[in-house]
Amino acid sequence: MNSDISSSDDMNCVECGALILKATFERNEGRCAPCKLGTRKSIDASRQRCEEQRQYELTNPSWKFWQNLIGRLGEQNEGFNTFSDAEKQYFAVTLLGRVSEMMLV
Ligand SMILES: [Zn+2]
Repeated sequence: MNSDISSSDDMNCVECGALILKATFERNEGRCAPCKLGTRKSIDASRQRCEEQRQYELTNPSWKFWQNLIGRLGEQNEGFNTFSDAEKQYFAVTLLGRVSEMMLV
């Protein structure tokens, strides 16, 4: 019986430092599953993309303007009619851009 297995058997991945089971450590030559499989880099890359997107949203004035329009649109059914002509045009163009971005993904 292996009743004395405890968390003190956990090891750190030699590549990324993640806490992994000793069995995983031994099986993967000291690496966690993502490092062993080579998916760690893509996980980090997608995390980085999220962070970049967040920074973009925090700092980009046109994003803020877009959020303002979306917010006003949601407040009332006639929201779109409260937009000025310039805002309507911006909304339509941005919406089209976003839709085509989504379709490319
Ligand atoms: Zn790792």
